[in-house]
Amino acid sequence: MDEAGSPDPLVIRSLEFIGGMAAADGWRPPTDFPEVAFAGRSNVGKSSLLNRLVRRKAFARVSKTPGRTREINFFKVNDRFILSDLPGYGYAKISKEKKADWRPLIEGYLKRTPTLAGVVQLLDIRREPTEDDLAMLDFLAEIEVPTVIALTKIDKLARHVAAERADEIMKSLSLTREQTIPFSAISGEGRNELAAALVSLVEESAASGSR
Ligand code: GDP
Repeated sequence: MDEAGSPDPLVIRSLEFIGGMAAADGWRPPTDFPEVAFAGRSNVGKSSLLNRLVRRKAFARVSKTPGRTREINFFKVNDRFILSDLPGYGYAKISKEKKADWRPLIEGYLKRTPTLAGVVQLLDIRREPTEDDLAMLDFLAEIEVPTVIALTKIDKLARHVAAERADEIMKSLSLTREQTIPFSAISGEGRNELAAALVSLVEESAASGSR
């Protein structure tokens, strides 16, 4: 329970929506700041996680506005880094051809952002990673971007079951424990760990310069 009393590794002093990117060759913000992108399939709990992370209820509402749900939405945090909220992919009700629509925008953005400091990939702890999740993880490995995995909705499982599932997922995807953060938007568990991971990604990218 890291919300209880431990110092906040990421105090949000300012948060500004700076725009949306609708196409791989469309508008995007200037690459003046390190960027950390949040990825996951629709319904994985990304809006809830982002709301918890920045402690602003209204924050992810921007990304849920009709017309913005298929865009990459950019937010400047503390005048220090950019948080990019990638569109949720792989909605089960969308046909197979339509499903792959996310790839050019998301992959184009990730590949062509020299200031990309890292990606937080969300996976629902209760579910097997989908084909799209696996394609995304392969892609992230291919472009060699530092990746943190947030396992969402852990409050839906008993604590020992959640711990077992986290181990299983880690093993099956060859992830390290440091890379894997169990998270609950309901209890706030994992919030400070995720905030600390974000700060590390930003600091490491600032230290090593652009990719
Ligand atoms: P998004 O589509 O990825 O942005 O997902 P949302 O944040 O909108 O969440 C999808 C659904 O899962 C909503 O009904 C949320 O209330 C629920 N949800 C999200 N995070 C959690 C969580 O940590 N615990 C529980 N129990 N439910 C969650």
